[in-house]
Amino acid sequence: MPGDMPAAVLFDMDGTLVDSEKLWDRSLVDTLGWLGGGPLRDEARRETVGGNLDFSVRTLLREAGVEATPTRVADTAAHLVARTEELFLRGLPWRPGARELLVAIHGAGVPAALVTNTGRRLTDLALRTIGTGWFAATVCGDEVAHGKPAPDVYLRAAELLGVAPGDCLAVEDSPTGAAAAEAAGAVVLVVPCEVPVPDGPLRTRRDTLAGLGVDGLARLFTDVRAPSAGPAR
Ligand SMILES: [Mg+2]
Repeated sequence: MPGDMPAAVLFDMDGTLVDSEKLWDRSLVDTLGWLGGGPLRDEARRETVGGNLDFSVRTLLREAGVEATPTRVADTAAHLVARTEELFLRGLPWRPGARELLVAIHGAGVPAALVTNTGRRLTDLALRTIGTGWFAATVCGDEVAHGKPAPDVYLRAAELLGVAPGDCLAVEDSPTGAAAAEAAGAVVLVVPCEVPVPDGPLRTRRDTLAGLGVDGLARLFTDVRAPSAGPAR
């Protein structure tokens, strides 16, 4: 036996399934220029990886030296989303091994969910590339009270699937996302994309999803859960 399968696998989207963080790079730089600022400092860009729209917009306004009035925040968010939509519509590149893992999990009959900080409109555009048939549920950042790093999106996904969050394996690429999944009590497989991700008690890591497969997934899940699962031997 390779290990116990998780009750469900919960996938982050940007930087985990698809390499959309590269497209966010472009739309953020474009929007900062539109605000009269720029270039986008690496440190400021890193802050926004895995974050929600409001946080990204406020970071851009701060970097541009523009006061974050309600109107400015709304206008900037609209510009950023429109620019990102244009880029998403041209198609999204898969992260290595991500599609193969979705196929394998689907084939094994393990439920999967998409759990993203990105809003529903952009997520639905991305799902044109990713496909909707893999997921028994999809939860977006604008559908819960608090986006990642709060656990809300993960708790909601587990609720929709009818499973305990602690029985799930989440796959994440960012510190923000890994913190959200861990706060929900899920085991987290960290596969970094743009920025380094610190270790944590419920975290395991790999450089890539390529070659993992469902047996590998079960092994990772069981290894992380082992210290607290069952009596000591
Ligand atoms: Mg991500």
